[in-house]
Amino acid sequence: MHKKLVLLVLLACAIGIWFAAEWLRENSRTEVQVQMSKTQQDEWFVAYTFDESVTQATFVRNPDHTRIERWRPIDSDYYIGVDAESNHEYIARVDGQAFNSVAFELEPTYVSLRKDYAPFSPFSDGGMSWYSGRFKVCPQSCSSALWFDYAFSMEAPLSDFVRLPERSKRGELNWRESASDGQVVYVGPQQPGEPAEHGFETIIDPILPTSLKQRLLRDVPPLTEYFNQRMPHLAERPMLLASFSPTDNGRYGYQGGVIGNQMVLHWYGHSMAERITAPYFVEDTLWFVAHEFAHLYQAGQFSNDSAWIHEGAAEYMALEYLRSIRANSVYLNHRVSKASEQCLASNDRFELHYACGLLWAAEIDQKIKQEYPHGLFFLWYMYVQELNDKPRSDPLELYFELMAQLTGEEFAQQLRNQVAQRFAQLAAQQTAP
Ligand SMILES: [Zn+2]
Repeated sequence: MHKKLVLLVLLACAIGIWFAAEWLRENSRTEVQVQMSKTQQDEWFVAYTFDESVTQATFVRNPDHTRIERWRPIDSDYYIGVDAESNHEYIARVDGQAFNSVAFELEPTYVSLRKDYAPFSPFSDGGMSWYSGRFKVCPQSCSSALWFDYAFSMEAPLSDFVRLPERSKRGELNWRESASDGQVVYVGPQQPGEPAEHGFETIIDPILPTSLKQRLLRDVPPLTEYFNQRMPHLAERPMLLASFSPTDNGRYGYQGGVIGNQMVLHWYGHSMAERITAPYFVEDTLWFVAHEFAHLYQAGQFSNDSAWIHEGAAEYMALEYLRSIRANSVYLNHRVSKASEQCLASNDRFELHYACGLLWAAEIDQKIKQEYPHGLFFLWYMYVQELNDKPRSDPLELYFELMAQLTGEEFAQQLRNQVAQRFAQLAAQQTAP
């Protein structure tokens, strides 16, 4: 009897604590309204509204300081500055007073940000895709960014569809996001079609040459099959956005990214016709797409500090895929020897993650293949599964743990040393006079 009473009291306490925690959670969330709009004249605006007034709003993602030039405050009492300490961009009033709302006119053109997704990727038919993460701000500072809720709205002329994966509406769409990465929003004339056989929802720029469009659609099924045989299957239907924007400054290239279950491929240059006649354009494109496919199947398991893990693996998986379809071996050998050169000589951390990452992935693959035929893919299968079941604060440690299970402690330790040594060497070079 006595025991029962104690248990009851404990239960009551637990319920009380749960309610208090829920109340705290609900009430410590702050909502930020982010209203994007596009006019008939193709002018783009963003307006922010805060629950409580702030003297500053700080941007969540700060790859550079280009907002200062590219965002024009509608009211000249506001400006975008850079915090000297954190190096983050922020919005404030010239007179330092508090405010509840603020709006900017935007420049909706393509810029490639080195360490972040492009804010805008224009389509030649007047469509546009934009990246929501670029527009997230924290009231005051971002020290507790996890507690912010973003109520997004996108308003466009009625001729436009506003599309997110599995969601589409003419003229306006509302959705909510947390402070996490974000997603890609399509605004333009392309309406959702019938679900295609290959399982992707596709939004493809009509200006892309027919040969490239066909190639893309033809490559999706075998790529899907290849990755499905080796990695945990995708949980949701992915969306593929492919676009092109012309440049007049001689710059050309392509950039891709995977955000959640969206894959974004963007080409830029003088003209696409010129691009596709470049040597190895087909192989380059396939490599690029296979690399992004790998990211899709890596299921968001990205670590910024140890980018060699996912970037190197994506490079190696692309190489393995191209080998499996017997792509031009001269091209493939060239890619590998270029990575070897860069890994040896480069002073660029970013480049090392890709170049050395590819070589390290190859080493891991060979070692695992002595026991398991799927090599590196098998390690990634386990890694993605494990992280899906139980998110870890130290994915790097898990990666090495699983590697040790498949290859032995000695190999995993030797690889760990090799990685540490290369980055220590880089740090020494960078501090040298
Ligand atoms: Zn990548």
